[in-house]
Formats: sequence, structure tokens, C-alpha cells
Amino acid sequence: MALDVVCGGRFDRNSGGYGAGPAARSISVRVVPFSQRRQMLEYKAALHQARTVAVDPRYTSQTCPKCGHVARGNRDKRRHRFECHQCHYRSNDDRIGAMNLHRQGIEYRVTGVIAARPRS
Ligand SMILES: [Zn+2]
Repeated sequence: MALDVVCGGRFDRNSGGYGAGPAARSISVRVVPFSQRRQMLEYKAALHQARTVAVDPRYTSQTCPKCGHVARGNRDKRRHRFECHQCHYRSNDDRIGAMNLHRQGIEYRVTGVIAARPRS
């Protein structure tokens, strides 16, 4: 049985699902942070005999995916920028949120536990 994670991403008309590219498809974990998409995702997942898992999206755009440092100041919401005040990793804030949700999905698949921060 496949395992999909409820998180973010764009709807892909070709595949009929949500995904962020070849990497996301190859490990069959998809990320969707908007709760209103949940019901649609669960419906689509059920059509493909996949299970959905809801993860907590809080702090995902404030958490550094490299070192695990969490701070509101890591994110510049107006400019959609993220810079970790500890390790200086930089990227788009939405990308950071998707990376953290994706990591949570993979960790859940491997360990059965959803961890809010990356393991160091
Ligand atoms: Zn960091």
C-alpha cells in the first residue's frame, strides 16, 4: 500500500495529483499545507489505494530544514524569503515549508512518528 502525506504543491493535470517534481514522485510522498485540499486529496488517494496522513503545518516556514533552528525571524513573510539565523541557509519561505512537510512525511513513513524538527 502506498503512503501519501497531506501537504502542499500544485495540482498536476497530467498525473491527476499533487506533486513538486520528479523527486517527490519517486518517493511517493506529496506535500499539501492547505487544509481545504485535504478532502480532495483523501478522495484522490482512495482512488489509488493510497493512505493520507495529516501533518501539523505550524512553524514549517520558520524551521530551518538544515539545522532545525526555529525562529519567527528566520522568515520574511512579505518578501517570501527564509534565512536561518543560525546556519544562514537561504531559500523561498514556501519552499522551506514544503521541504519540512516533505521531511515529516518521509520520517513518518520510516519511523511511524512525525517529528516537527529535523533530526541533527
Ligand atoms: Zn539553519
